Amino acid sequence: MQSAIWYIDTFKSQQRDPSSYNLGGECYYLLTQNYAPLTQRLQTLSNHIQHANDFYLAAEKIINHPTKEYTQLAIAQNNGSLDVFGSALSDSINNSSLNQIEKDTLQQRITATTSAIKNYVDFLQKMMADTTYAFSDFRIGKTLFGQKFKYDLVTDITPEQLFAKADSAKNYYHQQMFAIANNLWQKYYDNMEKPTDSLVLIKDVLDKLSLNHASPQHVVDTATKLVHDLERFIIAKNLFNYDTTTSLKVRTMPAFMAGVSLANAEFIPPYQKTGTTYYNVTDLSKMPAADAESELREYNTYSLQFLSIHEGMPGHCMQSAYNNKSGSIIKSVFGNGAMIEGWAVYCEQLMMENGWGNNAPELWLTLYKWRLRECSNVLIDYGIQCLNYSEDDVYKLLKNQTFQEDAQIKEKFHRASVSQVQLCSYFNGVSDILALREAYKNKLGSSYNIKDFHEKFLSYGSAPVKYIREVMLK
Ligand code: ZN
Ligand code: ZN
Repeated sequence: MQSAIWYIDTFKSQQRDPSSYNLGGECYYLLTQNYAPLTQRLQTLSNHIQHANDFYLAAEKIINHPTKEYTQLAIAQNNGSLDVFGSALSDSINNSSLNQIEKDTLQQRITATTSAIKNYVDFLQKMMADTTYAFSDFRIGKTLFGQKFKYDLVTDITPEQLFAKADSAKNYYHQQMFAIANNLWQKYYDNMEKPTDSLVLIKDVLDKLSLNHASPQHVVDTATKLVHDLERFIIAKNLFNYDTTTSLKVRTMPAFMAGVSLANAEFIPPYQKTGTTYYNVTDLSKMPAADAESELREYNTYSLQFLSIHEGMPGHCMQSAYNNKSGSIIKSVFGNGAMIEGWAVYCEQLMMENGWGNNAPELWLTLYKWRLRECSNVLIDYGIQCLNYSEDDVYKLLKNQTFQEDAQIKEKFHRASVSQVQLCSYFNGVSDILALREAYKNKLGSSYNIKDFHEKFLSYGSAPVKYIREVMLK
């Protein structure tokens, strides 16, 4: 509650972030989450959007020091939301058992909502076109960053401590990666002379690994197969009391959420006891061939395994099922991002610790590349927001020290300009989970077993690791 008050009174996101006004996501939820019969959900939708125009007009009045980046984002995302109110919705309405009056009212409201969205987008576009408009800087500075860090992550350390920790972890992973890449060199480059710069050597070996990838048409199938293999693996290794009735679907990502990342996971909403979690994967066959190739090199055969662990099994999708079983609506509604992301990152390492993929050095090298990404997420988030890192500083760091592709770097800089602290949640969360596992192991001594740790840890729902730690170590 303190966090919510801080967001309104101090951070004032409602004044600086025009993308916080968007009816698309919540309406999409009503339409796609099968928590009640379609007719009932359409009635809810109809009530929900009846004041859409007032809503957007109020937004226009409240927004008074937006950043350029959030304004652009708001334009793109609100335009994207028009899809939600398109022809598929008209079909649903026709197929529902709403009476004729209800159908007509809903259609009118949809038309009004669509034009309210378009007017709002026009309003924002005029602002963008006005060269004299004074946008705010997207960098929030140390004071606000420190406060947001405390509220968003719910952790005991400071941003400065996390930054230092991430920086030294980066150096550690470089050493690990060099040892692996050095051993793999001959396999991929025969007797070619090794580069003298260790980071260049790592990059050269990673480049060879990226050539090994699925074809655009087969990514969803490959991911589906991986999820099933992972299910079998966690049962065979006795890592979880895995409930095989968990409903997890791998599917092509719905169009309106596409374009942000190759894949994501959709949680079962807080008020639903049961439901399906989705592991959404972008349809690469619809992308221009060169873009698809670049994505596939990044999400090559090795990387796709970690993506499926992270988003699907036993990462986000499985945690979502435990989250729903935990029975606390509060913990679901106010789910802690660092716990959720930390868990998914933890699972990547967990699978490798237990011999996933027969301990292939290529997989370890790829895992460490993912680790580097999480460290650099912290470095660039704090660096950009508090230390004034330029786009060029970020480019050099991500290109030379974490081996990322140009397109990814660009996307990451953009993301760091429309979010703050969120990029710290991965590294912070996994560090806290690993520290807790160690402490729990020490506490239980010979009666410790990993399945028991997992079942206990997940039983508290998506609560901050800090509080789970308190109860688990009591
Ligand atoms: Zn290729
Ligand atoms: Zn994630």
